[in-house]
Amino acid sequence: MPEMKPLNCEEAFARLDDFIDRELSPVEQQLVQEHLNVCAHCLAEYKFEAAIVDGIKEKMRKMQVPQELSARLGRALDSA
Ligand SMILES: [Zn+2]
Repeated sequence: MPEMKPLNCEEAFARLDDFIDRELSPVEQQLVQEHLNVCAHCLAEYKFEAAIVDGIKEKMRKMQVPQELSARLGRALDSA
């Protein structure tokens, strides 16, 4: 069992991107989560970054719509 040493701000900050992408080990996810629970500064930064990541995902999702639409139109034309 690895030692659950609390992260300081610098350590939590360095892991934020991977935390948002869920690419940390379960132990590190837990450590970052625990730091966010007690540190308003890092929590604010996390929310800021997570909002940007969500925004990018939303944009990518919207960019896929025309492709899906044209594929659907293509199938509709094939079956007509
Ligand atoms: Zn912090």
